[in-house]
Amino acid sequence: SAKAAGKRQWCHYQPALQAGLVERHELNENLDTAIAESSFKLYYQPIVDLASGALVAFEALVRWPHDRRGMVLPDEFIALAEESGQIVPLGAWVLERAAQEAAAWHRLSAAPRLAQGLPPLRVNVNVSARQFRDAGFVDVVRGAVRTSGITPDVLVLELTESVLMRRDERVHTDMRTLSELGVGIAIDDFGTGYSSLSYLREFPISILKIDKSFIDGLGLSQQQYALVEGITRIADTLGVQVIAEGIENTEQRDLLAAMGCPLGQGYLFAHPLTPDQARRLITDHSPLITPTPHPT
Ligand code: C2E
Ligand code: MG
Ligand code: MG
Ligand code: MG
Repeated sequence: SAKAAGKRQWCHYQPALQAGLVERHELNENLDTAIAESSFKLYYQPIVDLASGALVAFEALVRWPHDRRGMVLPDEFIALAEESGQIVPLGAWVLERAAQEAAAWHRLSAAPRLAQGLPPLRVNVNVSARQFRDAGFVDVVRGAVRTSGITPDVLVLELTESVLMRRDERVHTDMRTLSELGVGIAIDDFGTGYSSLSYLREFPISILKIDKSFIDGLGLSQQQYALVEGITRIADTLGVQVIAEGIENTEQRDLLAAMGCPLGQGYLFAHPLTPDQARRLITDHSPLITPTPHPT
């Protein structure tokens, strides 16, 4: 029950989609209030260079602090917000907040990073299909970039395959506009949906995020290993950067680094961090995890 779960930091109550009508209605009203009051929080999970351990980006992950339910995770409300259309204003807030936070990171770290030969930290933002389809989406992205003062290449939009599956002209046009604007486009959770490597040539994709389910099996199955290695190699050939999601142990990290996968993300390096924790990590300037030395 929610009461029993209240003691835990993250409250896992009944998923929104399965919840009763009354509860859904209540959640929708709560979401409206939360959107109006901008009472969501963004957490930031590091994305690192697997070879050096250097920080290259953060993925912004939304949380909803709720009076009775505790800190509600996105899996509990994003689908509901998509169905109701509330994802449009919520997603706009996420984009604006994340871009502003990235601008703050640059004030903290641009000069020292430049001295180390490192590019400015990027920020990855999740975009749902409903949000991408909204007629005002491209303008929201433009506005977030302009208002925050970041350069467009600092922003990476993470799209799931559900966006790309609808091969209508609008998707192609908007994708091209965003790409010409200079914003990065990533395919999130690659391998879980109707994955197709043809997306890589059909759309201006700059990053491919290999889903955690493939990383889980890396050290266990020859097939999984071969699959991840193959995807990494093809992506590399096409000039697409790969991020391995959900790295939880050094064995996975080492296997990925050895096959030439450039970037990774996962609890091994860091959990999603509060904005303060993320800023502290940036000003520390130390690699997140010391890479395993090559065997000699
Ligand atoms: P995602 O975009 O694939 O984000 C990665 C999720 O995996 C995050 O869960 C993250 O906390 C979790 N994760 C990262 N490393 C590990 C690991 O090593 N092990 C395990 N077990 N999990 C790991 P989170 O924050 O609960 O987000 C879940 C999903 O909700 C996201 O999946 C994304 O699809 C969606 N989401 C989050 N924030 C937003 C947002 O602002 N807008 C939209 N539209 N969707 C969002
Ligand atoms: Mg994501
Ligand atoms: Mg993902
Ligand atoms: Mg996911």
